[in-house]
Amino acid sequence: MEFETVIGLEIHAQLKTNTKIFCGCSTAFGAPPNSNTCPVCLGLPGVLPVLNIKVVEFAIKLGLATNSTINRYSQFARKNYFYPDLPKGYQTSQFDLPIVGMGCVEVEVEGQKKKIGITRIHMEEDAGKLIHDTVEPISCIDLNRTGTPLLEIVSEPDLRSPEEASAYLKKLHAILRYLDICDGNMQEGSFRCDANISLRPFGQNEFGTRTELKNMNSFRHVQSALEYEIRRQRDLLLDGGSVTQETLLWNPDKNCTESMRGKEDAHDYRYFPCPDLVPVEISEEWIAEIRTLLPELPDQRKMRLVDQYNLPDHDAVLLTSDRELADYFEETVRKGAKAKKSANWIMTELLRELKGEPITTCRVSPKQLAALLNMVDSETISGKIAKIVFQSMMESGKDPLIIVKEQNLLQVSDEGELLVLVRQIIDANPKQAEDYCNGKTKLMGFFIGQLMQMTKGKANPNLANEFFVRELAGKI
Ligand code: ADP
Ligand code: MG
Ligand code: ZN
Repeated sequence: MEFETVIGLEIHAQLKTNTKIFCGCSTAFGAPPNSNTCPVCLGLPGVLPVLNIKVVEFAIKLGLATNSTINRYSQFARKNYFYPDLPKGYQTSQFDLPIVGMGCVEVEVEGQKKKIGITRIHMEEDAGKLIHDTVEPISCIDLNRTGTPLLEIVSEPDLRSPEEASAYLKKLHAILRYLDICDGNMQEGSFRCDANISLRPFGQNEFGTRTELKNMNSFRHVQSALEYEIRRQRDLLLDGGSVTQETLLWNPDKNCTESMRGKEDAHDYRYFPCPDLVPVEISEEWIAEIRTLLPELPDQRKMRLVDQYNLPDHDAVLLTSDRELADYFEETVRKGAKAKKSANWIMTELLRELKGEPITTCRVSPKQLAALLNMVDSETISGKIAKIVFQSMMESGKDPLIIVKEQNLLQVSDEGELLVLVRQIIDANPKQAEDYCNGKTKLMGFFIGQLMQMTKGKANPNLANEFFVRELAGKI
């Protein structure tokens, strides 16, 4: 029996506001424990929360960018549960009246476009952080994070494979970064995701029992965890067993999921409207104003890059997955490099040399990259040498021309100089020259290779080829 995979994601995005959602404390990451706290975010009795208007603005932005309904009337609710990192004993969230309703984003997997539904987006506060001592049997609590604003984005169970889940996750990551409302830093937990997954026999209408994979903080973990969970559930079902609805944690060291707790039902949280906060009412004018402020989004930018620079779809998708990477590409072209050549170079050499670091840390400026590409174009250096020069540029930040001069890498295009070398090589290899003249034209590679060796790769390959053809023809 074969099974269909069903996945729905709940994404938590920490917002880039300066202050917390219900008080004036700073949201800065990495401050000394408990220094960014006040009676409100410590949950002391008698305090009153005040909603940060930026959080509402950001929620509307994301709602519009995901083609979703903005609910003119929404309300905060208390989600009650006990956990030591939650000082109030409840999380202020939204329940039956979220700020954003139904919407959708488009993803593309292996050339197939597909719309993924968004169920809702709501505002809520983050909890604190427990720090478990590795030696003593004690845990410490850092409440700097309590009250940090989050948007939770819940998808419909529309995803059908780990690849689709990953593409959807990347698309939302990109949208949040384009809107400049979340820094998207997965290591620091500003962008994390819970994945719900179930299997059902192909053709069956009802969904199977799902498990929930909690708090994954890298694209790679999400994909491997889902792949593992598909195998685990499939084996269970094929053995005649059943899947238990539970919450699992992905263990990246052991490469498997581990049970965290049985899944509570929604009503266990005893949600009720938060009496401390007035309902949120949003005017049409405000929504319209925010709409006019929306930047160009990843899908639009992708289409523009295809149009304006004649790039293949694949290149445009990759370059626009990251706002700053697309900026870098466009700036390189603006500085005079050819579009397709710039795209190729950025997608291969540049991303490889960056080794996963963000493009903003790159020591080579778009202007310098453009200069390098133009040197290849004008045959000042060969493509091969350009790669060596580029590595030097990444290390030193120097201009390509300076490196070429310092390391004496200028291409040998001097016709007299090349011709002397070509004749020398032919004279030194009479057997190969004779075979070439008798039709073994593949030997051209051998001759060019000899010349490149003598010039340390600096011979102009077009000229070299032309000279060898002419000189060898003269031998017949
Ligand atoms: P909860 O609030 O308990 O986590 P929800 O009903 O809000 O549950 O659903 C959470 C997520 O789980 C949503 O993204 C939804 O698409 C997804 N989901 C719901 N049922 C299934 C299922 N059977 N298989 C896979 N995903 C599911
Ligand atoms: Mg959930
Ligand atoms: Zn505070």
